[in-house]
Formats: sequence, C-alpha cells, structure tokens
Amino acid sequence: MANNYNRVYNFSAGPAVLPVEVLETARDEMLNYQSSGMSVMEMSHRSKVYDNIIKTAEKDLRELLNIPESYKVLFLQGGAHLQFSMVPINLLKNGIADYIVTGQWAKKAYIEAQKYGKINKIASSEDKNFSYIPDCSDLNISSNADYVYICENNTIYGTKFKTLPNTKGKTLVSDMSSCFLSEPVDIAKYGLIFAGVQKNVGPAGVQIVIIKDDLLRDDLPSWCPTMLNYKIHADNNSLYNTPPAYGIYICGLVFKWLKNIGGLEKMKEINLKKAAILYDFLDKSNLFKGTVEKNSRSLMNIPFITGSEELDKKFIEESAKNGLLQLKGHRTVGGMRASLYNAMPIDGVKKLVEFMEKFEKENTK
Ligand SMILES: *Cc1c(COP(=O)(O)O)cnc(C)c1O
Repeated sequence: MANNYNRVYNFSAGPAVLPVEVLETARDEMLNYQSSGMSVMEMSHRSKVYDNIIKTAEKDLRELLNIPESYKVLFLQGGAHLQFSMVPINLLKNGIADYIVTGQWAKKAYIEAQKYGKINKIASSEDKNFSYIPDCSDLNISSNADYVYICENNTIYGTKFKTLPNTKGKTLVSDMSSCFLSEPVDIAKYGLIFAGVQKNVGPAGVQIVIIKDDLLRDDLPSWCPTMLNYKIHADNNSLYNTPPAYGIYICGLVFKWLKNIGGLEKMKEINLKKAAILYDFLDKSNLFKGTVEKNSRSLMNIPFITGSEELDKKFIEESAKNGLLQLKGHRTVGGMRASLYNAMPIDGVKKLVEFMEKFEKENTK
C-alpha cells in the first residue's frame, strides 16, 4: 500500500523518497538476511552471501540500462562531489577538457577540474539564472579536449538536456545524479556516467560510475591517490576496500523494483505522466509559474514560484501542514521545487496539484 505508515508525500530533492516496497523488504530482511542469520549491515563484504548481493545488483543494473560489455560498473563512495575530482584526474591526458555549465553542480565540477588542467567553459546558461539548456549542436569543442562534461539534469534549476551536445567525437562525461534510472539511456553515447544514488536510487553514500573500459588507465600520475583511480576499483569489482555495502544492497532492491514495474521504458512513461500533471497546472495557473523554459523542463525536479515571497512562504508552511513536505526551493531560485523522482507515487502529484488549486483560490482576488 502506497500511503500507510503515516508517511507524508516527500518532495525532497535529495536524499529523497524511496519505494515503500523496497523499505518493507529492507525491514523484513533487517535482522536476518535470507537465512544468513545476520543483517546485511553486519556481514563481511568478502562473504559469499554479500558477493551475491553486489553481483546481482550489478547484473540487474546492466539489464535495466542495457549496459554494453565494454563498460564497467563501479560502486564507489565520496558523493558526486568526489567525481568532480576523479573525472579530471583519471581522464585528462592532454590536460584539456570542455565544460558546459548549466547550474551549480556543473559549475562546481568546472571549478574543481581547474586544479588538474586547462578547463574551458564552452557554453553556459548562467545569463538567465540557469533556466534553460543552451544550444549545444555546434559548440567550439577544443581539438585536443580529453572529454566534454555535462550535468544532464540540473537538480536545483529543473532543467534537463533533451538532446546531448554534439561533442564532435570527444568523450562525453555526464553527471546523471538526479535523473539516473528515470528513463532509458543509450550508454554507448557516453564515455563515463556517474550518479549519486541519494536522488533517485538509494540511500546517500553510494556513487555509481559507468565507464567505458578504454578510459581505464595504467599510466595515471603517481600522485593520484589509489582510492581515486577508477582502474583499481574496476580491477577489484568495486571490492578494493570495504564498499558502502548496505547502500548497495538497497540500490539492488530498487533495481528489482524497477524491473518489476517493467523497466525504464515503463518508468519513463510513468514519470512523463506525473510531470505532466504538475506542468499542465502550472501552465494554466493564475498564481503559480514554472521558472524553466518549456523545452528544457526536467521530469524530476520542477521549480515554481508565485511571484510573491510572502505567498511562497505561506504555501510552503501550509502545504507541509497538509502532508506535502520538502517543497521549499533552492535558495538561488527561491519559491518552491517539487522533486518527482521514480518513487513519488502519482497520487502525491495529484494531491499537490489539488492543494495548489485550493491555495490559488484562497489567495487570488
Ligand atoms: C546532489 C547532486 C550533486 C552533489 O551530490 P553529493 O553526493 O552531495 O556530492 C551533484 N550533482 C547533481 C546533479 C546533484 O543532484
């Protein structure tokens, strides 16, 4: 049942809502995982039973995303933030990379990478507070760029790349943290994808990296910390040291949940339906307005405003009293933001829009 246990509708941008069915399974298996006599939290990451958990998780993820054999899947730690460093450390050979800056996360990645090479900002949407995705069909890609970097779904601003940039043959690197597993992806178009799972896939503490095997190198600079070397993790199947074992287990349950739903095609269909409920309302509302250009709209994160800070504040307070939580927008956008990740039930979006309609009636003359 979707809404028992006195659970609220949680619109948090992350850590975020997880499927009730997954939490129930975790609860049922908490004290004694499948007759092992212990919790997944308590078992050695070198045990046979844990080996089966991590291998099954990888297998299910490969199936969901149709990941080609030539890509490695890594379960790492350190947050998406550590990827802002690992990407340039591992991928810079010529020492040059091109970044497309479409929000705070891309900007942070761009700034961090500058420690390691000559990093070019080849496009940006900062001129309009990151409210759109720039045209990336014919950018000035550096002839010797080691990679082109994007943040595919901009969690704070609610924008998403609908077409990937034309990288003119260069390796594409994507931060997919807030859209990972929300829809099918053609992995072959990327050299490296990373995602912090706490947005759409699991508990904080796990990073998933999908990397083409020809990007794994034996010739990294000697100062590179062992733990920041993708190849070390790839060679050891994510078990070089203790992995975030319990988090990976929960991710595995979410992968099963997605497979049960019918995979990512089906998930996308559901996500389109959910987002349309809110966007359709925003487009006809006399009070609420979306903040993003229509053709850049994210299915996952939907910011909106009333135009009055006072009313925004009142809306956030009153919606919380009605079981609609975590709707406050990011401080750089203001207003509200509803994150409609995979696990947000359609009823949650319907309740939100009903409440917005009521609030609009009561607060417009
Ligand atoms: C949340 C988020 C990050 C930062 O994640 P941490 O795990 O806190 O480092 C980076 N990129 C995107 C797209 C995000 O949504």
